[in-house]
Amino acid sequence: MKIGVLALQGAFREHIVTLEALGVSTAAIRLPHQLEGCDGLVIPGGESTAIGKLMATYGFYEAVTQRHDEGMAVWGTCAGAILIALHVRDALPDQRTLGLMDISVRRNAYGRQVDSFEADLDVAGLDAPFPGVFIRAPWIEAVGEGVEVLAQHDGRIVAARAADLMATSFHPELTGDPRIHRLFVEQVVGAPRA
Ligand code: GLN
Repeated sequence: MKIGVLALQGAFREHIVTLEALGVSTAAIRLPHQLEGCDGLVIPGGESTAIGKLMATYGFYEAVTQRHDEGMAVWGTCAGAILIALHVRDALPDQRTLGLMDISVRRNAYGRQVDSFEADLDVAGLDAPFPGVFIRAPWIEAVGEGVEVLAQHDGRIVAARAADLMATSFHPELTGDPRIHRLFVEQVVGAPRA
């Protein structure tokens, strides 16, 4: 089992470190052909417009969609959650997403005053609160059929999961707590193979 981490921009190193600490083989993905052989992909936090532009330049929109169709699970954190969402509110006019997951995400939803904060979150499947690190985070305004809400903060959805997709508004890779990464690894192991 191998999990790739999209390494174009943002907090990709921390995801690699956390996954390796769980004993998972990882690959820093800089070119689409490196997705071959990946059973899962993490799209990290960073800046969704910057990551999206680089994805377009290198041909990642097509490649990620194709590998997802073939059974590769995908987890987006923060900017990554925006990039996998079907609908984005407050996107830049020409901002493109993969549209893999039937969620509606509001970009920079927390606004300026509380644009970065930490909050303990009750996450479905975890027996103790998870330290949520939010950095200019989106929230998830609505989820479609087949999407399970995993966590909420102040009445807003901040983590969700579908068969082979997961989206988190916050940054589990910045906490040293590997439990959300473990949830994704379990999802990758259970994802249907094409
Ligand atoms: N606000 C950023 C965006 O729109 C996301 C921030 C993050 O990933 N920490 O892409």
